[in-house]
Amino acid sequence: LKNINKYYKMGQEDLHVLNNINLSIDEGECVAIMGASGSGKSTLINVMGFLDSKYQGDYLFNQKPITHLTDNEISKVRNQTVGFIFQDFNLIEHATVLENIQLPLLYNGFTPKRALPHVKNALEKVGLADKIYQYPSQLSGGQKQRIAIARALVNKPKFIIADEPTGALDTKNSRSIMEIIEKLNREDGVTIVMVTHDPSLVKYCTRVVRLMDGTIIEDREVTSDEV
Ligand code: ATP
Ligand code: MG
Repeated sequence: LKNINKYYKMGQEDLHVLNNINLSIDEGECVAIMGASGSGKSTLINVMGFLDSKYQGDYLFNQKPITHLTDNEISKVRNQTVGFIFQDFNLIEHATVLENIQLPLLYNGFTPKRALPHVKNALEKVGLADKIYQYPSQLSGGQKQRIAIARALVNKPKFIIADEPTGALDTKNSRSIMEIIEKLNREDGVTIVMVTHDPSLVKYCTRVVRLMDGTIIEDREVTSDEV
């Protein structure tokens, strides 16, 4: 990201939400984005995840500028490269676990039959192979988030973006979600950018970026003695 600025229209005045952000993330990093409520964390990762293209400045992804792409081209890049995880899981309640997880594959042109082995593989990664025909309402919060992770990784994305993935979970479930995310990063080499309010989760990441009022005020490596 090069000199990224983002404004929201607020009556007469514009709200300056991202203030000249310069941030370069390498493949294989696991970056925790921190900062107070309203500091611009979600706005920043929505830009990074190609969910928001209304900003000023340049975004280079794999060295290529993406700013000039059409909405259709951006959706294609997004569907093929990024997996998303959200605080409130965003599962479709009236669809089974199988149907929820296969959705990104169907977007990319898979038939349900071709999608099935990929769905099973993703479910195994989060340890919930036996839940394939359940509905989200039959699962606990921690299990729902693991299903959401399976959905995020079913396309084998190189990049996962997570907005407070443990925000709705207790300590024990938070830890098990972070262990899954850490493993995806270390073993499968998936690049992770995740927002968190919880300083005790920073140790699972390799780098911390802190925002204040839309400005980066801290950007450092995570040390091995981090607690
Ligand atoms: P939280 O920790 O509470 O999730 P955040 O750091 O993710 O906060 P953002 O959601 O990025 O914060 O919001 C940054 C600022 O932009 C806030 O002042 C917010 O009110 C404002 N904002 C966010 N979305 C919009 C929108 N769609 N329209 C107008 N203002 C918005
Ligand atoms: Mg937010």
